[in-house]
Amino acid sequence: MEIKKSVVLGICAVAIVGIGYAVYWDYLRQTDPEFRKKLKKNKRKAAKARRAAAEETKVKTADFLRKAVEQVGSESFPTDVAAKEKYFMEQVAKGESLFAVGESGYHDAALCFYKALKVYPNPVELIMIYQKTIPEAVFTLVYEMMSIEVKKKQAEYFENFPPKEMNVKVQEVNQISTSDDLVRRALISTKDFEPGDVIFVEHPIASALDPSLEGNEFCSYCLKELNGAKFVDESDLFGAIYCSESCKDKAMTEYETLLFTTRDDSSSSKEARLKDSVKSGKVKYPLMIARFLAKMVHEETQKVATGIEEEYSTWDHIERLRFLSVNPSDKESKEIKLMRDLFETKVPGMEEFISEERYLMLKGKLLYNAYGIHTDHNIKENLEETVRSSQPNVIGAGFYRVASYLAHSCSPNTEVRFPDNNNVLSIVAIKPIKAGEELRISYIRVGDRNCSNRRNELETKWRFNCTCTKCLEETGEVDTTA
Ligand SMILES: [Zn+2]
Ligand SMILES: [Zn+2]
Repeated sequence: MEIKKSVVLGICAVAIVGIGYAVYWDYLRQTDPEFRKKLKKNKRKAAKARRAAAEETKVKTADFLRKAVEQVGSESFPTDVAAKEKYFMEQVAKGESLFAVGESGYHDAALCFYKALKVYPNPVELIMIYQKTIPEAVFTLVYEMMSIEVKKKQAEYFENFPPKEMNVKVQEVNQISTSDDLVRRALISTKDFEPGDVIFVEHPIASALDPSLEGNEFCSYCLKELNGAKFVDESDLFGAIYCSESCKDKAMTEYETLLFTTRDDSSSSKEARLKDSVKSGKVKYPLMIARFLAKMVHEETQKVATGIEEEYSTWDHIERLRFLSVNPSDKESKEIKLMRDLFETKVPGMEEFISEERYLMLKGKLLYNAYGIHTDHNIKENLEETVRSSQPNVIGAGFYRVASYLAHSCSPNTEVRFPDNNNVLSIVAIKPIKAGEELRISYIRVGDRNCSNRRNELETKWRFNCTCTKCLEETGEVDTTA
């Protein structure tokens, strides 16, 4: 009884004190400006604390995501189909049971779904399934992990590419006194070379013959002179001819089947219209772009079919290359329309990918980076489009992943060669080169042309003012003894 009484009293006392305190508090709040300020500050403090707590959760989540991606990145996954399927089912089941527990299981659930993605043959499809089937909070985490992985891969691009055996690396260098960008990417040698040494050999991402030469003397795939050999595919409306069965097969699987075969062989077919436009327009870049896009489609389907994913896609490789901005004109609009019409019938959705912006960007990349492929024989040249070439007798163009990074010099230390008379390019040292030195090539024929003559061509085609050592020496713009 005593205890009960005292408890009741105690409660009352607390209540009264409470009310009194509240009244006092309220009174102060209304009257004392200093106190009001203090109160505001407290409010801010509380908000700050809330924000800090949210920030802490965010940091913890970010930390978890980063570590998860790292951990999964170093794990090895099953490779054969049955084992992959088993692993996939296990991870998905585990993920489901984890998110069923509630919020505390979300992180680990997301990790399971992310791991399942690693062995699923078509990740894009699986993401779409996830989006419909797993709680949004978990899906967001999986999505974040993927975006961290992609960003990490992109950030490490120049650590992984070019491969070591190519003897070069891409490095950012600061530019001094040029109207060009302040930082540019340069191709640096990783070894010493003597004149005549081959530094690296490279196959193109896409190449094309000059349309005037298509169908008679040269291989449509590798650009080699035919010398009597002639391989054709009857189903191919483009009428391309090849130097070997192997070139024909490669062209057919990589792009020709997608681009130029159809049951409709009338002149109004989309295939025929693109073909006619290429041939009559005397330009090779639309065809190179079509081949490039077709190859991208081929790459994607291969990925799904084989489950093998190259570390970087073709698109990743060309993303970092410089390009000239191309203003849209009637000519380009026509090219874009032809390309969209053609792809729309082949790969649904592709027409949306070929936006005006993307097409012009691709064209700008070709205009800035493509190399002229030349032959030993005299041919009538048709240089309607810009190509890098210091040699006469250009028969077509090739677009290369690594050689594109070579900057110009009128007195270069390397030279482009095509030793097998096809589209496989070799970069050869023509001066002694030390490891760490930048490699440069001449984009134009130098011969005995003077500086202003050379500068004019470079300015017109690549829009830069040449400040190479040769130009600076000739114009006396720099003290060469310095
Ligand atoms: Zn060939
Ligand atoms: Zn120069």
